Amino acid sequence: MSGAAGRVGLVLVSHSRVLAEATEALARQMTGEAVTIACAAGAGDGGAELGTDATAIAAAIERVCGPAGAVVLMDIGGAILSAETALELIDPAIAARTRLTGGPIVEGAVAAAVRAAAGGTLDQVTAEARQALVPKAEQLGEAERPASAVVAATDAAAAAAVAATDAAAAAAVAATDAAAAAAVAATDAVALAATVELAIADPGGLHARPAARLITRAVAFDAAITLENVTAARGPVPASSLIALASLGARRGDVLRLRGTGRQAVEAVEALAALLQRDAPPAAPTAPPASCHAIPVAPGVALGPMVRLVRSIPEVPETTVDDPAAEAERLRRALDLAAQDLGSALRGTDILDAHQALLCDPALVDEAISRIERERCNAAWAFRQAIDAAAAIYRQLDDPYLRAREADVHDVGDAVVRALLGGAAAVLPDGPPAVVVAEDLTPSEAARLEPGRVLGVIDRRGGPTSHAAILLRSAGIPAVAGAAALVPDAGGARAGLDGATGEVWLDPDPETTIELQRRQAALRASRRPPGARDGRLRLACGREVELWANVAGPSDARVAREAGAVGIGLLRTEMLFLDRVDEPGEDEQAELLAEIFAAFAGAPIVVRTLDAGGDKALPYLDLDAEANPSLGVRGVRLSLARPALLEAQLRAILVAGRGHDIRVLIPMVSTAAEVSAVRAALERAHEALAATGAAHRWPVATGIMVEVPSAALMAERLARQADFFSIGTNDLTQHTLAAERGHPRLHALADPAHPAVLRLVRAVVEAGHAAKRPVSVCGEAAGDPGVAPLLVGLGITRLSMCASAFDAVEDALAGASFADLATIAEEALAVDDAAAARATHAAARRPG
Ligand code: PEP
Ligand code: MG
Repeated sequence: MSGAAGRVGLVLVSHSRVLAEATEALARQMTGEAVTIACAAGAGDGGAELGTDATAIAAAIERVCGPAGAVVLMDIGGAILSAETALELIDPAIAARTRLTGGPIVEGAVAAAVRAAAGGTLDQVTAEARQALVPKAEQLGEAERPASAVVAATDAAAAAAVAATDAAAAAAVAATDAAAAAAVAATDAVALAATVELAIADPGGLHARPAARLITRAVAFDAAITLENVTAARGPVPASSLIALASLGARRGDVLRLRGTGRQAVEAVEALAALLQRDAPPAAPTAPPASCHAIPVAPGVALGPMVRLVRSIPEVPETTVDDPAAEAERLRRALDLAAQDLGSALRGTDILDAHQALLCDPALVDEAISRIERERCNAAWAFRQAIDAAAAIYRQLDDPYLRAREADVHDVGDAVVRALLGGAAAVLPDGPPAVVVAEDLTPSEAARLEPGRVLGVIDRRGGPTSHAAILLRSAGIPAVAGAAALVPDAGGARAGLDGATGEVWLDPDPETTIELQRRQAALRASRRPPGARDGRLRLACGREVELWANVAGPSDARVAREAGAVGIGLLRTEMLFLDRVDEPGEDEQAELLAEIFAAFAGAPIVVRTLDAGGDKALPYLDLDAEANPSLGVRGVRLSLARPALLEAQLRAILVAGRGHDIRVLIPMVSTAAEVSAVRAALERAHEALAATGAAHRWPVATGIMVEVPSAALMAERLARQADFFSIGTNDLTQHTLAAERGHPRLHALADPAHPAVLRLVRAVVEAGHAAKRPVSVCGEAAGDPGVAPLLVGLGITRLSMCASAFDAVEDALAGASFADLATIAEEALAVDDAAAARATHAAARRPG
């Protein structure tokens, strides 16, 4: 009996052979052959009669008792006497390693076998058998003290693990997603602790068999594991005792918290969580749990505690200025910016008017300006003082409604201070990883969210192609947007979301929790392992489609390389310095770019020049307020308006690009003159570097983003100056359909599958092919499995997207030939709207 030799053996003594053998079979259901069990039962020939026999018991003990010892379980009366006699008949050394226990034979045998299989000592196995009735009694309300206390008291090592308060334990993380939790813990080489929460999906709860499997698996790891029933507030108990686990009373839907400490804590917790999820029988088809629908933004399923993103305000310096007139002007510009900021954050709410009125209230504005002029206070300090004075007035009012308006005054003050000082950091309260509820998440806030801390995002506003949404997708954070009607300002303890469908659940019930965990497990199972692809996928006809990556910083560059991206199709350089208050120096830019380029050494890298403006307001640029920022001085327009800024960036790109296959991409091109102006600036940057002898990349191919309808329509002319085209479907869709890309109510309209957008894509492909210019797509449509096949059907062979979309796009293209896709793309060009265009692809994939 391999594997059983070093473990405590069991002897089952019963008057009934049938009872003993059935008990053995029950125990073996839990442990298989891991434990040696012998039956000494019945009397007479073959044990056919009822009775017990001391010699048979002695022989059984000698058979099972190895160095670890043996435990004897007995049924009633004479069985005990016979077992005591047997001890006198055997070798005293064996007798010394044998324990007779008063534990119940059936429950005791099962519990003891599991503990023995898990490597329990003689004392632990004996104690386990002895206490085997406690959970039953507890469940029936007959217990004198809780089983968990009994077990913890008899298991010093495990009890110590439960009570661990060391630094490693303090660093534990909680998550509803085992992989996420493990990933977090694994990033901290010192913190050998991991925690995961999951709901019991098995209709029988955490019953004996899954519990036994858990225990036997747990011992394989160098880690102390505990379990806690969070729903019923029971435990924690060690994962080494069947009885302790039974005492958790874990029923279907209860949330269990698994916690591991020790060298292999992360692996152990991950493996046990997977085991518990795998053990659950497949759910019978049930009606999907009731949910509400928001806008799908980033795929993935999140479930966990809900926290609100709190916007913090920068410290206001109490300094004076030399030029009060310029400072007053700065304040006026900040008031305009704040009006814009609040306008988009509070759009559609009834407090917007009140906020806007406060922003031009003379009691605030005149007071602040007069402080600037009289006392030379800086603008932020002056406005803060005016706000504090106004707030004090509201605070003294009798009417509670009016008194509550003090909050509005502070809100307005914060918006102005943010506009003046920039760098407002939204902060998450300390705690375990959580689902974050945000109010119109900004790109800089999205950039700061750490995937290890954030299970998912519910943006009460926003839309799928906002830059915040793009950043969430690149970070692999599941997200939905436009959820104001579904998620109140306050309240709710837990939340669930499916970023692919847009479903949102507040305080999900056990059924929903199980369903969400099933979706998470399915997603994990479908994920391709790193290194599984080379970024080139072949259609059924042999045509190759390349998967390139959109990248916003060094970490997603590394992830994209690992995911097999052919190259970087779009490096959004404006994302590198989103929360900077001061302009990054040329060297600093070159350093950061070099880090990103290094991740794609030897591969093609398309670097886009600064695409600031619109919804990417870089604080250090001190941009003027505009009525229509997405149609304003943004992208290449802004770069050309600030030549020093542009040329510094171009020099940094060329210097960092030395030894790399870089190409420069110009954003928001609407005229040919813009392209020639940037080309001239690039020449100047090269000459300046050459003049100082600075090593740099030269020459570089220079392409344009086609994201303004005029550029798409003029592609044939622009091809004379552009070495390649990259179609930005996000802006192209926004401008073609006149539908703001982040607008929560226009997202159905701002759909890149709209035939108008597809027709422009076709025009660019044709112009590019005629002029032999490569054409790729780097807007979010490239990573949208409902649109990517249409793009390929239109002749696109290079799709650039967030690496997390590779799997879905590969699946969407699997098995199709170019001819199939060209046919559906042709149909999509001829329908009325985006929904019908998407349907052409969906219909082609339906069997039959
Ligand atoms: C686009 O507009 O499609 C694009 C890729 O650029 P961005 O999303 O950065 O504006
Ligand atoms: Mg764009």
